[in-house]
This record gives sequence, C-alpha cells and structure tokens, in this order.
Amino acid sequence: MTQRILLIYTGGTIGMMEDPRSGSLVPLDFDHILEHVPELNRFRVQLGVHAFAEPMDSSDAEVAHWQEIAGIIRDQYTAYDGFVVLHGTDTMAYSASALSFMLSNLAKPIVFTGSQVPIGRIRTDGKENLITAVEIAAARRDGSPVVQEVCICFQAHLFRGNRTMKYSTEEFDAFRSPNCPPLADIGIHIFYMHDGLIRPAGPFTVDSRMDTRVGILKVFPGMQEDMLRAVLLDSGLKGIILETYGSGNAPRIPWFIRLLEEALRNGLVVVNVSQCAEGFVEQGRYKTSQDLARIGVTGGADMTTEAALAKLMHLLGQELTIEEVRRQMVADLRGELRTFSSR
Ligand code: ASP
Repeated sequence: MTQRILLIYTGGTIGMMEDPRSGSLVPLDFDHILEHVPELNRFRVQLGVHAFAEPMDSSDAEVAHWQEIAGIIRDQYTAYDGFVVLHGTDTMAYSASALSFMLSNLAKPIVFTGSQVPIGRIRTDGKENLITAVEIAAARRDGSPVVQEVCICFQAHLFRGNRTMKYSTEEFDAFRSPNCPPLADIGIHIFYMHDGLIRPAGPFTVDSRMDTRVGILKVFPGMQEDMLRAVLLDSGLKGIILETYGSGNAPRIPWFIRLLEEALRNGLVVVNVSQCAEGFVEQGRYKTSQDLARIGVTGGADMTTEAALAKLMHLLGQELTIEEVRRQMVADLRGELRTFSSR
C-alpha cells in the first residue's frame, strides 16, 4: 500500500536564501524546496504539502505556531499515514517537545527535520535530511508505522523529540539526545531500536492548550536578590524552570532560599533541571540542594530544559490543581524523563 505522508513546511534554513539587499538568510516558499529536491517525486509515497502562509525563521516561533502544527495534524490525522515537519533548527527541540505533549497516544510518526545549510546550496544537508525523514515517516513493520511518536531526524540519528537539544551551530550532526539513546541510527541502512519506541495506550487525542506564564531562570554566581525577587514574586508567572548547577545544586544564601520559599507558598511551580546536558537532578545529594527539596522545589530528573518548559506550559494549560501539576511534572508522560529512585 502506498504510504501517504504530509509535509508541513514551517520555514527554517532548509528553505532559505540570501536576501539580495541585506545578505541575511530569509525563508522562501515551499516551491523553492521542491525545485531543489526533484527526488521527492520519485519516492513511492503519496506526498501532500501544507505550508505555513508565512514561512518563518524558527527563532520567531510562538506557542501559536505549535498550536497551528497540532491543528494541522489533528485535521489530517486520518488522511495521512505519517507527518514530516520542516522546521528551523534553532527552536526545533522546543517545538518537538511541545508537540509531544499536545498529541497523546500517537499511532503515527511525526518527524521533524531541517538543515544547517540551505537547500539551494551545493553542500546542503537539507536534501539528505528531508529524504531520510520521509523514508522514516513511511516506514512500516508488521503492518504498522515503525515510529509512533514525535521525533527529530537529523543527519546520522533519529532522536526522541522531547529528549533532544540543538548542540552545534556548525556540525551537520547538529542535535544531541544526551539522556536517551537514539531511536534509530541512520547510515547506509536505518537501524531502529524497536524496543525503545513508544506505543499508544489509548485513542489519539490533541490538547494544544498552553499557559505561557512560565520562565527559565539560570542560576549563576553573583546572582542578585532584586533580580530573583522580580522574577519569582513580581512577574505574575505560574511556573519557573530553574536551571541549577550539576546534579541540582544552588546557592545556600538565605535570601535565595527565602524568596523561593515565598514563591512556592504563593503557588509558583518551580522545576529544577540541570545546566549540565547529561545526567540528572538529585535533590539532597549535596547540602546545596537539600533546602530545595525541603521547601518543595520539584526535581526535574533528566529532562532537557526545552522539554521541561513545554511540559510545564502544557500542564499549567490544563485544569489541574498545583499539586497535580507538580505531581505530573515528575511523571513520565511521553518518554521525556526517566524516574530515578533517588532521595
Ligand atoms: N535560524 C534558523 C531557524 O531556526 C536556523 C536553522 O534553521 O538552522 O529557522
């Protein structure tokens, strides 16, 4: 049976060209990509295309764009067997994370890809990435799609979307998934890690509600009380991703703990993730994280900042109590974290 794949083109370097006036890269429409990848017509898949009315640089991505992608997938879910999302690399990990939470019980692949070099340049990586992404979206085993989750296909790997971070501005292999092995290794063959792939546990649903009253706060030596107060108490935020040192450590200076404690008492959800790419948060391992556990900071295990932020927006967007948001932040909803039996 011919697979039906929908390409959702949002923009990104893959479809960009230099603006003759400014010399900066700007996104062009989808025809520009088709023109450079005639191979797409040779695939034994039936391709549909849905292009954003205004293709964007992904640095301009907003929650409304994630909701637009989710809406397209919801509306076309039964008409297609798989989806390829062409997207800029800068915020691809955020978008893939957000989509992973918006879409539950996926039984079809959602494959994000893009490129480091525009498709019109001779050394482009876009052609290869796009062709591989379509192949993965169309792959089947025993009559079902091989991949049934949101992932990122880039160069040599297929990664779980909500485990991925953009790692390099320079390498063709631009992404890493430090805490989760690749879902597939891409070379001459595509080797899938079948045992590690997520499978649906119920009917497919879409919930794209997101609460944007969230922030990311990176702890640094020399941080000042006024800045912390403004963010924690005077900003109207509902949730904060606190990027701490190492395995979840932060300064023990009394005003730091006091302000956090007050914010938590006011109902702010504070999620502790590490500034290290690899490893996990273990509150209480050091004295410098004991207080965080005691006052009710939520340990974010081995989540990426991107996944933690998208998850927090998603959970705060539901009609949940604060306790429930805090509880679900540490639960494995879409393979975004591993639960550790630490203190
Ligand atoms: N600025 C571009 C974007 O994120 C970078 C890229 O696509 O590689 O849209």
